[in-house]
Formats: sequence, C-alpha cells, structure tokens
Amino acid sequence: PTIENHGVSNGVALKVPGWYVDIEDDWPGEAHLYKVEKVLFRGKSKYQDLFVFQSSGHGKVVVLNGDVQLTEKDEFAYQEMLTHLPLCSIPNPKKVLLIGGGDGGILREISRHASVEHIDICEIDTMVIDMYRQFFPEIAVGYQDPRVNLHIGDGIEFLKSAPQGDYDTVILDAFQCMGSEAEQLAGGSLLELVARALQPGGVMASQAQCLWHKEFSVADAIASCRRTFKGSVSYAWSPVPAYIGGMVGFMLCSTEGPAVDFKHPINPLNPKHYGVARGPPKFYNSEVHTAAFCLPSFAYEV
Ligand code: SAM
Repeated sequence: PTIENHGVSNGVALKVPGWYVDIEDDWPGEAHLYKVEKVLFRGKSKYQDLFVFQSSGHGKVVVLNGDVQLTEKDEFAYQEMLTHLPLCSIPNPKKVLLIGGGDGGILREISRHASVEHIDICEIDTMVIDMYRQFFPEIAVGYQDPRVNLHIGDGIEFLKSAPQGDYDTVILDAFQCMGSEAEQLAGGSLLELVARALQPGGVMASQAQCLWHKEFSVADAIASCRRTFKGSVSYAWSPVPAYIGGMVGFMLCSTEGPAVDFKHPINPLNPKHYGVARGPPKFYNSEVHTAAFCLPSFAYEV
C-alpha cells in the first residue's frame, strides 16, 4: 500500500514501503513501525489530520496529526486505567465530565459504573466521532449509554461556563500531557478551571508524561498539581505498548474536602456489570489499580 504519511522528525523522513512509521519529536532516535494491510480512512478536519489503517498485528490503528493514538490490540489499557483510577477512588460517583475522548472508549468504561447518573462529554471534532463510529464499534459503543450527553465544542470554554462544583469527576483525554500543551491552551489555568468545576473531594484524572521521558520529573508534576489541588495528588502509570516509551502516565488529583486515597480503591468495579461494554474489563482490577502508583527507584531520584 501507498502510505504518504511517513514519520518525519527534525526534517528527517523515514520511509519503509508498506509500513507506517510513527516518529515523535519528543523521542529523538526512536520509531515505531506498523505493517499496513489496508488504508481505511484519511480525513482532514478543521482541527487535525486523521488516518486509519488495518495493521497486520495490532488490529485497526488510528493516527492523529501523525501520532499513533490507539491500536485495537491495547486501547483498553489506557481507557480502563484513565477511567477507573478516578472512579474507583471515590465512594459514589454520580456526575462525570469528559473533555476530549471523542473515540468513546472512556464513555464505554464510565458505563460500567452503575452509580453514575449523568455523563457530559465535550469533544471538539465531529470527524473524530464519526470516524470511530464507522470503524471502531467496540470503542464508540460508549455513546450508546443513555446517561451520555454529547457537547461539540472546545473543552476549555465548556469548563469556563460549567457551574462551580458541578462534577464529582473530570477526566481529561484531550491534550497530550499535563503541564505543557494543555496548560498553554488554557492560558495556564486549565487545572484551576477543572478544580473549580469539581465538588469538594472531587477528582480529576489526566494523561501525564512517560517516566522514561528525559525531561519529565514526577516530583515536578506533583508539585505543579499541588499548587491548584489541595486534596490528594498522585502519579500513576500503565504499560501501553502503542505509545512511544511503552507506557503512559496519569495524574490523579482531588480538591479539598472528603479525603481521597487514590492508591487504595474504595469503590471496586463490579466485573459483572458491563454497562454498554460488550464484556468484562480486560486490564483493570483493584490490584492493578494499587500497583499503578508504585514507582521505580529512578523516578524518585529524578
Ligand atoms: N484517546 C483518544 C484517541 O485515541 O483518539 C483521544 C485522544 S486525542 C490525543 C485528543 C482528543 O481530544 C481528540 O479527539 C481531539 O479532537 C480532542 N480535543 C483536542 N482539543 C480539544 C479541546 N480543546 N476540546 C475538546 N476536545 C479536544
């Protein structure tokens, strides 16, 4: 197959016929390659380039703006952890806001929580939603939950107009990592907007950087979140082979109020209650939850 969108890093293009090359500038000197069986979709929305292909070993793969976002083989690790780490840490989650996450996978996971009464999702790009509905029914199934209210627009503006203290959980799945791009987008105040939208003792979960990233310090990320979140602040991580670095980090933060101990889930997931998902969780359980907060020694040293 012809694949125009080869990885380009620092002006160096790597072209391997029949393979998609994922190069990210944050990870100089490294690339992931996926063998392409068939190109399924190419689109250019107002916000980003979308590219979907059938790979030979990882199911269908989604690429946004040149970066692999998910593969069918391991998407559940990211979706389950980003959802259940916060929702299993508070006693009775009822109202949840998801910013981004237009694929529907986080919605699919929230759906497993019977206590939740209302789910708002604010996704900016309708082409992302339509593409996932067409090619990834097992992920976009999340939209079928009747508690879901879809808002198309900018998540930052949505947060600005949200009533104060309206949510017990906010999940960010819109920005590449905490503290950099995301904060710039909101003029440095993204975390404050999230904290304002949360009830006392409410929780936020966001993607955070990878431990192996040379510029990343867990201590700095925690200190940065503590400036805004006066409850608990913790860093967790999970292997996700599709991401360069092989893992993803998460920031878990709570506002001042009833204490939240993220490391010890008090609201265990009922693996028999699927919601709209088509089977039990494949990655998350209470032991994996607690283990996700254990850090290797070098992460403390940094
Ligand atoms: N995990 C998903 C996936 O694999 O496709 C989504 C992650 S992707 C990095 C970011 C998502 O957030 C995209 O669907 C994008 O359209 C959306 N997004 C980006 N900026 C946004 C904003 N300001 N408000 C709402 N959604 C946004």
